[in-house]
Amino acid sequence: MINIRVVKCKQCSSVITSRANHDFNTCKCGQLSVDGGYFNKDTNTQCITRIIGSFQQEHLSIIPDIPVTPEQLYNDWNKGINEFKYLEKYA
Ligand SMILES: [Zn+2]
Repeated sequence: MINIRVVKCKQCSSVITSRANHDFNTCKCGQLSVDGGYFNKDTNTQCITRIIGSFQQEHLSIIPDIPVTPEQLYNDWNKGINEFKYLEKYA
């Protein structure tokens, strides 16, 4: 179980994160995108290193205790499983 930093788009309610260095994701309305995420072992948190679009602090949050390991999260992106691409059900 890990904590994942996410961006929630106020316009379309998409909850997105970046699961790996090259995991570029855009919310459903296209207003916000994230890229360059990585797993921070020290804080047990998935980080978003870059957010593209007009956002405010209230768009950012952490969803705690998501039932996934960092390796699974990476594979979710790398193998195109995409179970954790949108995180609305955990938010
Ligand atoms: Zn949106």
